[in-house]
Parts: sequence; C-alpha cells; structure tokens
Amino acid sequence: MATKPRRPRFSIKPLGFMALALALNGCGTHPQQQAEQNRVKTFTVSLANIHIVDAGAKRLMIDAGKHGDEPTLVAAMQAAGIDPRSIDYLIITHGHTDHAGGARYFKEHFGTSIIAGRADQAMLASGKNAALCSTTVLASFLKPSIQRDSYPPISADIWVDQALDLATLGTKGRIVSLPSHTPGSIAVLIDDQAFVGDLVRGELLSKTQPARHFYMCDLKNNDKDIATLLDNQGIKTWYTGHMGPVSTPAVTEVFE
Ligand SMILES: [Zn+2]
Repeated sequence: MATKPRRPRFSIKPLGFMALALALNGCGTHPQQQAEQNRVKTFTVSLANIHIVDAGAKRLMIDAGKHGDEPTLVAAMQAAGIDPRSIDYLIITHGHTDHAGGARYFKEHFGTSIIAGRADQAMLASGKNAALCSTTVLASFLKPSIQRDSYPPISADIWVDQALDLATLGTKGRIVSLPSHTPGSIAVLIDDQAFVGDLVRGELLSKTQPARHFYMCDLKNNDKDIATLLDNQGIKTWYTGHMGPVSTPAVTEVFE
C-alpha cells in the first residue's frame, strides 16, 4: 500500500542534513511500505532513514535518526500502526548523530534493546561524530555543522564484534561488521535484503541511484566492504541510511 507523502513542514534548525532536506523536500516523514517478502517500512526524518523490519519472529528497528526528531518519528510510526513498544531490537548501524541520535529516547521511553558495533562504543558514549571526511563539495560546506552535532550518549545491550547470527535472538538474519564508514559500522542481512547504514547512499534526486556516501575517510576499504556484500551474499536490495533503496545491479554498475 503506497502512502501519500505528507506536505513538507518547515522549521528552523541548524544546518546539516536538515539543510539538505529543506533544499529537496522539506522536513517531515515519508512512510513507505515496501512490497518485499519481509515487511519493511521506511520512515525518513531530516533525510535520515529509519527502517522497521518484520522478518521472522522479531520486529527490528534499524537506526534511530537524529536527536530532536524522536517525537516526529514516533508520531509517524504510530500513524502507520506501529507501536514503538512492539520493537524488539534497535540496531544502530553506526555511531553518527543521524543514526544513533534517537537511540536513548527509545531506550528510555519504550525499553528498546539496543544492538551496535563494539568498535563504535566510544563514539556512542561521547554522543559526537568522530572526524568526518567529505566526499563532495556540498558535504564540505555542511561539515562544520554536522561535526558539531551531538546526541545523548548511549550504550548497547548487545555489542557486535565480527558478526552476530540473529537466530541467537530468536529471529532470522545476521549482522556483519563492515568497518569502512566508521570502525563499528554494521549491516543487517535478512534473506535478500541488506540494511547497510552509510556503506552507500542513494543520490539526492535519483534516490535509487547508488552513490558514495557524503562522508567517507577510507575509500579503499569502503570499496572492499561493498565488494564483500556484492560477493555471494544473494542480496538484491540495499536499504540505505539516506535516500535509496538501491539494487545490487545498480551498486555493481557504480562501484565495480
Ligand atoms: Zn554516517
């Protein structure tokens, strides 16, 4: 069922991804029902994607958006029929402000259990972005604001080192470490779907066209991590942290 995007709502917020959002679509939420075999609902707030995945026996939330956007996100979830208390695990793909920022809110308000990559533990404890390396002119322009951004520090209930089989938590899929965007970056693989955080993004306008993320310090290892997911994983759809989703053939064309 396709849901009509809401009218853009404008507010004065610091520069950063919000500025990008205003430039393109305004802020607000855009719940989209994806028609895959695992039910995925993507909410976009301030250009950050939050995915709710019903696959197997558990309801997973992948990423938590920016701090300050939590009430907007929760209202959008409730409007889409998702009770935040029904979320079994919040998986934070990495410790950046626009992915981990809302995690503490979900923990405190709804008792959500949190899973994150252990190598981002210090970043999550600091509530600040580690040093960012811009990959575009626009990203360079926005960097000072994003670098200053912060969120309430958070600790995980379950830390992922190399990998985690979600069967150990009573559901299907697995989490793998892909440490190029940040040392603790993780991806969630369920059947032919991958939830990849900022491993890649979609283009700003052609959202299903893959692109290098705005901030990436180690391009060589980023390519290596992308190749790891392209090899023998049976993945068809990559759910990105920004724009997207993108397909495996499209990623192959851009990155191989
Ligand atoms: Zn990031």
